[in-house]
Formats: sequence, C-alpha cells, structure tokens
Amino acid sequence: MKKLQNEVISWVQRSVDQHLCLAVTGLSRSGKTAFITSLVNQLLSVNHGARLPLFTPMREGRIIGVKRVPQRDLATPSFSYDRGLSQLYGHPASWPTPTQGVSKIELVIRYRTQHALKRYLKETSSLHLEIIDYPGEWLLDLPMLAQSYTQWSAQMRELLTGQRAEWASTWQAACADLDPNAPVDELLLAEIAQRWTDYLHQCKAEGYHFIQPGRFILPGEMAGAPALQFFPWPFDEFPAQHAESHKASTFSTLKQRYDFYCQHVVKKFYKEYFVKFDRQIVLVDCLQPLNRGANAFNDMRLALTQLMQSFHYGQRSLIRRLFSPVIDKLLFAATKADHVTSDQHANMVSLLRQVTQAAWQNAAFEGVKIECLALSSIQATLPGVIEHQHQQVPALRGRRLPDYQPVSLYPGEVPTQLPSASFWQQQGFRFENFTPLEMDADKPLPHLRMDNALDFLLGDKLT
Ligand code: GDP
Repeated sequence: MKKLQNEVISWVQRSVDQHLCLAVTGLSRSGKTAFITSLVNQLLSVNHGARLPLFTPMREGRIIGVKRVPQRDLATPSFSYDRGLSQLYGHPASWPTPTQGVSKIELVIRYRTQHALKRYLKETSSLHLEIIDYPGEWLLDLPMLAQSYTQWSAQMRELLTGQRAEWASTWQAACADLDPNAPVDELLLAEIAQRWTDYLHQCKAEGYHFIQPGRFILPGEMAGAPALQFFPWPFDEFPAQHAESHKASTFSTLKQRYDFYCQHVVKKFYKEYFVKFDRQIVLVDCLQPLNRGANAFNDMRLALTQLMQSFHYGQRSLIRRLFSPVIDKLLFAATKADHVTSDQHANMVSLLRQVTQAAWQNAAFEGVKIECLALSSIQATLPGVIEHQHQQVPALRGRRLPDYQPVSLYPGEVPTQLPSASFWQQQGFRFENFTPLEMDADKPLPHLRMDNALDFLLGDKLT
C-alpha cells in the first residue's frame, strides 16, 4: 500500500514539472545564432548577474537555478553554445559562427511556484526547456506541397525579371538544349541543378530572401543527394503527356525528384519537428533590407509572407490540412536594435508590425498569442552623441566591421510604415555592422530586451 502511495505521489510530482519546446527561426543572418547564445547565457546567469528586470519570475526571485542537460534526442545536432561563447568573449571578440540546418540545446529551470496546489505537492517545480534552431528558409517550401512540378516551375519563372533574370542567366543558358523526352543524363541534371543553386546563392548574397527550394542553399547532410538535383522546367512549353509518362526521360525525372523533395524533405521537417513546437519566435532583420533598397525590402516581405503561412492555422489552411501544429504563442522580434539609437526602437516595432501584418490580421490565428518587439541579443554599441548642424544629436558608438575602426554615428531614422517610393529616393540610412564589445568572461552578455522576450515566451510557464 505504502509503495503504491509513493508511486502515486511521485507520478503527481512529475506531472507538476513541465516540458516546453521553443522554436527559434528567421531567415539566414536574421540573428538566430546570436539570439540562442544570448538566451542560454542569460538563463544560465540568473544567479550570476543577469540583468533581466522584466522577466517576471526572475524579478520575483522565484528562479532557483538553471542548468544545461544532455540532449535526449540523439539524432539532432547540438547547438554549439560553447564555441559561440568563446568567440564572443575572445580577443578580439567575434560573432558566433552561424548554425546550418536544425540544432538543439536543452535546459532545466528550477523555480518556486506560486500555485498553492503545486507547492503543496512539491517545494520546487522544473521546466524542461528544449530550444530548437532551424532556418526560416525551410518554411518557404511549405507552399510547394500544394503545387505540382509544372505549377511551381511556372511560378519560379515568373519571378525571373529584373536582377533575378540577370542572376539566372547562366542557369538559363545551361538549359538551352534540354530535351524533355531524351533519356535522362544524370550528370547534366546535376550540373544544371548546381547552376540553379548558384542563382539562389546569388539572390541571398544580394539580400533577396524568397528562394526555393530552401534546402538547396542550406542542404545540411543532404548535400549532393539526387533529391536536391532538380530545377524548374525552364521553358514555357511543357512536354506532351506521353513523354511525361516515359519514366526515364529528363522531364519525368525532374518531376519525380520534385515530388520526392516535397514528400520526403519538406514534409519530413514538418512531421518530425514543426508539429512538436509549443512556442515560436521569428527573428526579423528589417535594417539590412532597408539599407539595401526597395527590391531587397520587398523581397524580404514576400519571403516573410510565405514563411507566415506555416503559422496560418485556419481550418482551410494548407498547414492545418496536412499537419496539426500546436504553437500557442508566436513572437516576432526585430533583431539588432543596437544598430539604431534607442529613440528608433518604437519605429522598428511599428515597421515589423506592418511587415508581419498578415499574421496579425488573420483571424485564423485565433488561439495563438502574438507579440512584436525590438531587441538586441548581444548589444554591440553604446549610446553617444555627435554634433550635427551645430546640434548635439543622439548617436551610437562601436567598432565597425570589417575594419574594427571605432565610430560614432547617427545611423538614421527607421520608418514607422512600409517605406514609400519617395522614401527610397532619399535613402537616408547608414546602418553599419559592428563587432561585439570586448567583454569580461565572468559577466553575462549585454543585451536589449531579452528579458521582454523571455517573459513572453516562458514567463507564464514559470508561475
Ligand atoms: P543567423 O544566420 O540567423 O544564425 O544569424 P547570426 O546570429 O549568425 O547573426 C548574423 C549577424 O548579425 C552576426 O554575425 C552579427 O554581425 C549580426 N548580429 C546578430 N545579432 C546581433 C545583435 O544583437 N547586435 C548586433 N549589433 N549585431 C547582431
């Protein structure tokens, strides 16, 4: 009887402890690696000087301790926290090497609960926090699941105007003699697929984010696999039905690989990971596209609109029809807020709200709490003043990348609305990249509003 009683008590106690899977995403260079490194560092420093006044359980002194625990899922690569930290605290300090593909890190947070019943059962409770990092580019592939190879090809070709057409010209030239009915030439397909991948890389390098298939530029362990050796059909004409049915023809092979990619690469990610996420933070770097001009900015909006379809939970949405995601909180964060003076942070939030409007307006998001904020995971500038037209104006001080020169500058104003044509003509921006500040290894990483983010994402789970 006593044994049974103990087992019941231990079961109840275990159920008081909780598990939370927090997913971190964003387009590449949006700041995911910096964000996770800082988040883990802030949490591990709760009793060692972390400055998190707006993180409620911390302010209330209820967090007892946080520790890293070994990863339970042995198949997913680990997030390289220690390497990132040593880069940040190095001399000279440098940014952590960005992660590629999915990675994970797990923490346990022990805290004193406010709930009388929980307290009665157990002095302290624990939250097992699993943090998953994955490229936002992978979410851009979701719409492919609703498109046939021919529909997708037509959409990709439609995008090939202006600069994109220029960047795709080598790919297009390589396709010139492609015969849909000829027996497949594996080497030729691999070669042309490489040209398409080069085009996607060029889009990325020029600050364009809407790229498909997303896995082509971040292939992870799939690099070189035939599943990634296809490309959109390059001509307006699609081959007649009989040729398509000839299984070993060029066109059929491309179609089969496209279908395989959708079923086994895109779907696999959603099934294995996405449906298990409890909470999601989407990091957005609005400043770099503002720096680069109208085309890059509009392209980022297009990419984010596609990306947000994965959080579109309406009954008739593609994601709901195919999977059953359970995310209950979604945070959009404008990153690198230390690139602008603090008087511009409200503008950053307002701009981000406009960029992610589809998510806010969509009634289909019901049941999911959404929030927007501007943060800096790792603050790399300090406030200063400069003289401008005989007036003292707020400025930033930091060391500029890539030449490490100390600079004081006023980077410009962030628009509160989506920029108009006249805005782009003025182009009043000068957002520099900064090297991290030199830091004492025994102090937590400096940040802006990581505590707001933590409070939204974890606060209610630590009550
Ligand atoms: P990821 O590709 O999304 O993982 O992006 P990273 O975390 O690697 O960030 C890309 C780059 O953005 C870094 O190398 C830094 O130059 C910059 N960055 C990221 N976070 C911050 C930040 O909080 N402040 C500043 N000043 N720069 C940042």
